[in-house]
Amino acid sequence: MADTSAAGAAPRYLRLDLNDNVAIVVNGFGLPAGTRFPCGLELLTRVPQGHKVALADIPEGDPILRYGETIGFARAAIRAGEWVDEARVVMPDPPALDALEIATATPAPQAPLEGHTFEGYRNPDGSVGTRNLLAISTSVQCVAGTLDYAVKRIRAELLPCYPNVDGVVGLTHAYGCGVAIQAPDAAVPIRTLQNLARNPNFGGQAMVLGLGCEKLIPETLLPPGAEAVVRMQDEAFAGFESIVAGIMATAEARLAVLNQRRRETCPAADLVVGMQCGGSDAFSGVTSNPALGYAADLLVRAGATVMFSEVTEVRDAIGMLTRRAANQEVGRALVREMRWYDDYLARGGADRSANTTPGNKKGGLANIVEKALGSVVKSGSSPIVDVLSPGERVRRKGLVFAATPASDFICGTLQLASGMTLQVFTTGRGTPYGLAAAPVVKVASRTELARRWHDLIDFDAGRVATGGMTIQEAGWDLFRLILDVASGREKVWADRWGIHNDLALFNPGPVT
Ligand code: CA
Repeated sequence: MADTSAAGAAPRYLRLDLNDNVAIVVNGFGLPAGTRFPCGLELLTRVPQGHKVALADIPEGDPILRYGETIGFARAAIRAGEWVDEARVVMPDPPALDALEIATATPAPQAPLEGHTFEGYRNPDGSVGTRNLLAISTSVQCVAGTLDYAVKRIRAELLPCYPNVDGVVGLTHAYGCGVAIQAPDAAVPIRTLQNLARNPNFGGQAMVLGLGCEKLIPETLLPPGAEAVVRMQDEAFAGFESIVAGIMATAEARLAVLNQRRRETCPAADLVVGMQCGGSDAFSGVTSNPALGYAADLLVRAGATVMFSEVTEVRDAIGMLTRRAANQEVGRALVREMRWYDDYLARGGADRSANTTPGNKKGGLANIVEKALGSVVKSGSSPIVDVLSPGERVRRKGLVFAATPASDFICGTLQLASGMTLQVFTTGRGTPYGLAAAPVVKVASRTELARRWHDLIDFDAGRVATGGMTIQEAGWDLFRLILDVASGREKVWADRWGIHNDLALFNPGPVT
């Protein structure tokens, strides 16, 4: 296929399903009124890149079809060749949760994929990390500044003596005090912090820095019997320097253990990969997410655990997912998580329409229905074998739905708590997003973005639309890149620059 990023390239659109009455303009800077496509369709208005053009006349109130599904209804009559911008699309109601088909179309397992390995750090509990990191968790925000100070000193003074350790990660957050710690929903942030400390990339050696008077007891963040807790109010400390020395002594004991870890060849089945999207555009659903979906299928066939998340981005496509559930129990768990989130949003006086951002709309996504249809594509075509509530640890191999908000940082934090050791993040508009605790492979939906952000984007899936690459080829390339990054052979751009987002805990409970 021709490169359509240049001006003057032949006009092109992408139609995904034969029933669709809209298509996406591919050309780099959009197309002006009067442009004639090879099929004979003539544009009556300008259509920006990634936005929808009507392929046929659509009477007022008629469905607008993309992915073969209804993404909305025409607010007024639309003529063939006109730009179908978001203002012309009335959003449909979300699917009712009490009448969904469950496990009626469970996909048959695909042929196992043998012989794919990566170099990982095997832990005593059987989990395998992709990094060898010292994690220092915290039981309250009060200690965050002190921890930042101590981490700088540890990096400068201790880390050079332990060359097999990749780095030091401070797990700071706003929870721990001033919160209703007995409220039922407090279970979410508390188990998130507990499970974060157990992430396989930390080698079972996480420590905790606490203050001493907070509601969240530091010891509860570590497995029973672990003794790596430093309390700033401990009476053995006299002054700040003495406290920092105490933190560094505890850290050094952990570094000595971590320094013994070595990479060894592990089957791809030992990977726990999280998937997310952010800054999506209309191309996300046709290039980056299908390529990632294909890679996810390869990982599942190789025996790995693959998580997808972001409740508000699957809510409108939930009927497609419950049909794919491995059994009734998994399907009901999907419905349970959707219902919980509907109630959570209703309590806050919001609904799912709050999800789409100005950037999504600028990128051509009319509403959350269109965004959701493009988002679930990254789950590939495997059966869904398990459902996790926010912050729960993975317990099965295969494709897992881990319920999280769609916020990039909150989703990333929750997937880390679930045990993710590598994340793949697709983006259409572009984001510098990165995590200190696990490598993030960023995948662009458009070649134009991958070129402009050549030192932030790790994989160009836009080639599926404009580079003559098939979804299968892109999926295989991405699968191999995932194994290389997991092995430490390839470094993602966010890690090369050292740009990492803060953790963001999901606290659905009240703050006092
Ligand atoms: Ca997101």
